[in-house]
Amino acid sequence: MLIRGSQIECQFAGATRDADLDNSWMNEALAEAHAAEAEGEIPVGCVIVGPLGGLMGRGHNERERARDPTAHAEMLAIRAATRHSVSWRLDGATAYVTLEPCAMCAGALVLARVARVVYGCDDRKAGALRSLFSIGSDQRLNHVFEVRGGVLGDVCAERLSGFFRRLRASRRGP
Ligand SMILES: [Zn+2]
Repeated sequence: MLIRGSQIECQFAGATRDADLDNSWMNEALAEAHAAEAEGEIPVGCVIVGPLGGLMGRGHNERERARDPTAHAEMLAIRAATRHSVSWRLDGATAYVTLEPCAMCAGALVLARVARVVYGCDDRKAGALRSLFSIGSDQRLNHVFEVRGGVLGDVCAERLSGFFRRLRASRRGP
C-alpha cells in the first residue's frame, strides 16, 4: 500500500510539474501574441518545444504583413522548428498556441507528427481541435496527438478581446 501510495504521489507531483511547465511555455506563446499585436496583427502566438524540453521554434500571426492567408502562428512556428531539424517530423514535440488551432493548422500539426498540442482559449468559430472538429484525435487520420485546452485560457482570451476592443475604439476615433 505504501508503495502504491508513493507512486500516486509521484504521479501527482509529475502532473503538477507538467502543469507548471505548460503555463510557462504558454507565457512564451503569449509573448509571441504580444509581438503580433505590436505589428498590428491579431494576437496569436505559438512556440514548439522538443521532446527534451528545448525550444525548437516560435512564431506569431503575420497574415496582414505577409499578405498570406496561411501565415498563422502555428505554420510559422512549425517552419521555424523544422528549419534547424534533421527531418520534417517533429516527433515528441509539443506545440503551445494561445488560440485553438484552425483546420489548416491542426492539419499541419498532424502532418508534422507532434505528440501534443496545448492551447489557451477555444475558438468557437474556427477551432478544429474541439470546437468545430476534432482533428487531433480523429482516428481516421494516420497520426493523432494529445490535446490540452484552456491553459491560461482567460489570459489568452483577454489578449484577443482586448485587441478587438482597442481596434473598434480606434476606428470610432477620439
Ligand atoms: Zn490556423
